Amino acid sequence: MLKAIYPGSFDPVTNGHLDIIVRASKLVDRLVVAVLENPSKTSSLFTVDERKEHLKIVTKHLKNVEIQSFNGLMVDFANKINAKVVIRGLRAVTDFESEFQMALINKSLNSEVETFFISTSVEHLYLSSSMVKEIAMFGGNIDTMVPFPIKDFVLEKYKK
Ligand code: ADP
Repeated sequence: MLKAIYPGSFDPVTNGHLDIIVRASKLVDRLVVAVLENPSKTSSLFTVDERKEHLKIVTKHLKNVEIQSFNGLMVDFANKINAKVVIRGLRAVTDFESEFQMALINKSLNSEVETFFISTSVEHLYLSSSMVKEIAMFGGNIDTMVPFPIKDFVLEKYKK
């Protein structure tokens, strides 16, 4: 059984993330979407529990996808859950450098775990969680950027 992990911040989950999740879920037997619990990151819009809840809502139609969170090294978590593959999404060339570096570091930490890159769909090329937050903060339209129910959760945060 091929189990993969798709780690990220997902603050919030975007249509770019969901596209990668859907496509990856067709390639592996089980996909664990893993929210990184980063104690040093105090600037998150959503708590880890909120992000997990959002991911559960938008992936509930995908039967081989589960949502978890982790802290510490991603390769240690991959080991713990017996995932042999790490899924990462690649947008523009700018993603490549850091993603490639991370893949090589992870490989040196645990040679059993392979990183698979999935290229973004062209309509999500410039989409990032930080872009969504910036646009929402200034009252811009994020309808095409996040899955339907997530839009209201984001707008709600900026109302406060
Ligand atoms: P972000 O970079 O938006 O803050 P994350 O840290 O949550 O997002 O990213 C998790 C993974 O999803 C990374 O591999 C990232 O490159 C990928 N990803 C993020 N946005 C997109 C997108 N629009 N298309 C494809 N992959 C994406």
